[in-house]
Amino acid sequence: DKSARVKVALITGAASGIGRGIAFRLAKDGMHVALNDLPSSREGLVAVAEEIKRVAGAKECSLHFADVSSEEQVQKMIADVVETYGGLDIMVANAGIVPTVPFLETPVELWDKVFAINVRGTFLCYKYAGIQMVKQGKGGRIIGASSLAGKSGVGDLLGAYAGTKFAIRGITQAVAGELGKHKITVNAYAPGLIDTPALKEFIEVKAKNANMQPEQFFEAFNASVPLGYAGTPEDIGGLVSYLVSEEAHFITGQTRMSTDLYKRG
Ligand code: NAD
Repeated sequence: DKSARVKVALITGAASGIGRGIAFRLAKDGMHVALNDLPSSREGLVAVAEEIKRVAGAKECSLHFADVSSEEQVQKMIADVVETYGGLDIMVANAGIVPTVPFLETPVELWDKVFAINVRGTFLCYKYAGIQMVKQGKGGRIIGASSLAGKSGVGDLLGAYAGTKFAIRGITQAVAGELGKHKITVNAYAPGLIDTPALKEFIEVKAKNANMQPEQFFEAFNASVPLGYAGTPEDIGGLVSYLVSEEAHFITGQTRMSTDLYKRG
């Protein structure tokens, strides 16, 4: 249908890492991208938007500052996107934090914070995007951010984080069952090792614990994945680009990443 409007994608946590990579890719695919991050990341998000307009040739690129753990702010963000573009077709609930602490030293405040941002944030984005998509009546695509830590609870220092990423995988699968009748698919990516600022922080803590230099630890970590190197935000951008395409209309309830295995032994 030539008269159909350009697809609109909202990406949370787009000032950095994976969210930034997804935003770039969807803009290159010709979509309108609505970018979200915290007000404290204003500078970073403005820079990403400028780069997207320049490099990806995006026609539209709007900024939506909101904390995804706030119901009021998520509702307002989605209303703003709909007001700006006339609708919402793709929701990428990417924003998340990765606390790296020994389980026995995890304060309850940190536990609550990571669940508020990662799990409640995903719930709110799925819910209010879903309500809007059902209202539009033309289907839609919802994508969440799980992790290898949400499939196998791999490694140490990630107890609270792993709990949130298992939750996201479960929510994704369950909600896909409910929204299928509206032609809305719900999937998640579950990367093991993607080179981003969050991963760098994680590596620093792990390296310190292992009495290693971060570079040395990163090298050893890279060797533990099948291809022997960390993926990039662009790799996740490619996966999301496929999951939101027409071709992927029959894929739902899946949590995928092509390199989600660790070598054994
Ligand atoms: P990152 O820290 O580089 O980027 C995350 C962005 O989210 C930041 O810009 C941050 O400001 C934003 N953010 C944090 N809290 C927010 C909130 N309450 N509201 C709105 N925005 C908020 O992280 P990343 O590595 O790009 O990770 C992105 C997602 O992918 C996360 O959900 C993470 O758990 C997941 N993930 C990453 C990896 C990896 O290897 N990098 C692996 C598995 C899963």
